[in-house]
Amino acid sequence: MIRRRFLASLAAPLLGAPRFRTDPFTQGIASGDPLPDGIVIWTRLTSPQLTESLDVEWIIAEDEGLKKIVKRGKEVATPQFAHTVHADVRGLKPARWYWYQFRCGGVESRIGRTRTAPAPNSQDPLRFAFASCQNYEQGYFTAYEHMAKEDLHLVVHLGDYIYEGGPSANRPRKHDSPEIQTLTDYRNRYALYRSDKDLRRIHEVFPFIVTWDDHEVDNNYANDKEERGAPRDQFLERRANAYQAYYEHMPLRKSSLPRGTSLDLYRSLDYGKLARFHVLDTRQYRSDQPCGDGRKPQCEAALSAEQTMLGDAQEKWLMAGMKAAPQTWNILANQVMFAKVDAKPGEGAEYAMDQWSGYEVPRQRLIQFFDQAKPKNPVIITGDIHSNWVSDIKTNSNANVGVEFVGTSITSGGDGIDLPFAEANFKRENPHLHYFLAKRGYVSCSVDSKEFKSEYRIVPTVTSPGSPIETRAKFVVQAGANRVEKA
Ligand code: FE
Ligand code: CA
Repeated sequence: MIRRRFLASLAAPLLGAPRFRTDPFTQGIASGDPLPDGIVIWTRLTSPQLTESLDVEWIIAEDEGLKKIVKRGKEVATPQFAHTVHADVRGLKPARWYWYQFRCGGVESRIGRTRTAPAPNSQDPLRFAFASCQNYEQGYFTAYEHMAKEDLHLVVHLGDYIYEGGPSANRPRKHDSPEIQTLTDYRNRYALYRSDKDLRRIHEVFPFIVTWDDHEVDNNYANDKEERGAPRDQFLERRANAYQAYYEHMPLRKSSLPRGTSLDLYRSLDYGKLARFHVLDTRQYRSDQPCGDGRKPQCEAALSAEQTMLGDAQEKWLMAGMKAAPQTWNILANQVMFAKVDAKPGEGAEYAMDQWSGYEVPRQRLIQFFDQAKPKNPVIITGDIHSNWVSDIKTNSNANVGVEFVGTSITSGGDGIDLPFAEANFKRENPHLHYFLAKRGYVSCSVDSKEFKSEYRIVPTVTSPGSPIETRAKFVVQAGANRVEKA
């Protein structure tokens, strides 16, 4: 109905507003970073004739039919930020669903649904899913079609929202853009990804908490260092383009506005007394991958005290925030795997140098902190490696101090494969490991004051559309246990 009303209104634009010949809202709508009284609602306007700044109106209501409007406002969408809108709506009620819509030049967007965080003293249970690594060329985002039907409050995205590379051969979906460098390139890449109906849909039905990994900029970059050693100034300019386009296209608060070549992304979000999300940025401040990157024995550089994953300021912020958290669960929205996995069967050991295992001193510092400061129930959720892993986090003296759930990719790596012998090998080398599966999907979590449950949701295929979904494994962590059990 709303849609039809908007089409009828195309012929009669409001005074002073542009007359759109095409729907300016094809990039979709989104919401994110829920607070007990607020939410960010997002859209981007696109239209061939769009050059000037525009007034964009928004409304937010307590009902799907937008009858009980509780707030309305106006934002200016500027060409400097690709006509994106990040409205920071406040004055809402905690732990409830809201519906929102944008309007410009007499044209209305689709209606989005979102949800605020619970009140600070609430023990309300929380259901959320986490996802990462959605390479457009490598498959269909069918996992999101299924996720959209789940009973969730929130989606956490752990990075690789886009991939920066040029076209590759023999892929189920194609684009013809070379590797992206300029601000326009990055914007166009987000536009390509948002042309996917399942990605637009998941943003329409749940708020997101997002962080990035490497591919939002460049494969395996580290701070100001490009993967293949491009000159620093040149890379920082590219990084600034990538960071700006990331801010533009994500439902982030204006506190995450890019500043020069930097963008403050690490932040925490509270779900009552139940959970605190510590959203990490393990790319912008890290030291270079040691030992020449790749999978190696930990060389001297991997064990150097000079290594940093978070940078000093973020590491201190994380520890202070975990220690002070009154919540039952400290959830770390992390990018690269924290548990150390010896990937070499038999004698000798090899570890991923891009992961925390290439940064052993800061890794041990965090483990020591878990052990000694005893922040409540650390649960690390991780993306990056296009496979599923479940681990206990232990001190060198074998004390259990936390857990890690690594979720696989939405599409990256293609269909994936069942490798029971690989799982057996990994488990033999790594006694802290509970699970490994190299298939696609996401992880669905349900949390209350007693238990943190995770379900590994798997799509058998991504290289053709329409895959069903199945739960392949379930785990549970009892509050106070800091160890994973099969559920
Ligand atoms: Fe990835
Ligand atoms: Ca990655």
